Amino acid sequence: MRRNLPGTRSRGSAASIISPALVVLLASFAASPRMVARTPWLLFPIDVRRFDHISSKFGMRRLEGHRKLHRGVDLVAPQGSWVVAAREGRVSDTGRSKTCGWYVTVEHENSWRTVYCHLRFDPRRLGIVEGLTVPAMGVVGEVGSTGHSTGPHLHFTLLDDRGHARDPLLALYTPAETLQMLKKMGLAK
Ligand SMILES: [Zn+2]
Repeated sequence: MRRNLPGTRSRGSAASIISPALVVLLASFAASPRMVARTPWLLFPIDVRRFDHISSKFGMRRLEGHRKLHRGVDLVAPQGSWVVAAREGRVSDTGRSKTCGWYVTVEHENSWRTVYCHLRFDPRRLGIVEGLTVPAMGVVGEVGSTGHSTGPHLHFTLLDDRGHARDPLLALYTPAETLQMLKKMGLAK
């Protein structure tokens, strides 16, 4: 069964998709309001063989005495590791910003966007330009430390169709799951 991406519209009417099983599922969510479902639809965005650890998750964190929303997740890997598109999409923006450093933004078919920050160099050197269609796992840059960064890592942001930052770890396949899928597709051994 194909799962719809978040934000994609279902063709059926609302009434036709309400099944008894769904009612039970909704009731169980209502019973545990703090539970947030993990629904992966994005492949892990760096070379899984070189990924080391997550240094900072999405959410509120203390920074120089201020509480600030960390709008993405920090994935640590050695400088120069490949940064790859988490899913097929169109490059909607690329450039350099003070905080993000060299970055690439990819827009996906459901209008959600993924942003790849602190890249090692100008992504245009790899031919990554606005309007380009990139495949899932297509290289968009290399891990670096440009912008506000204390060491080589990828800051990965997920924006919904309204531009609001969402927790990437709820949408990402783990490195192990990603490797499993790549093996099935014959793209890794
Ligand atoms: Zn970050």
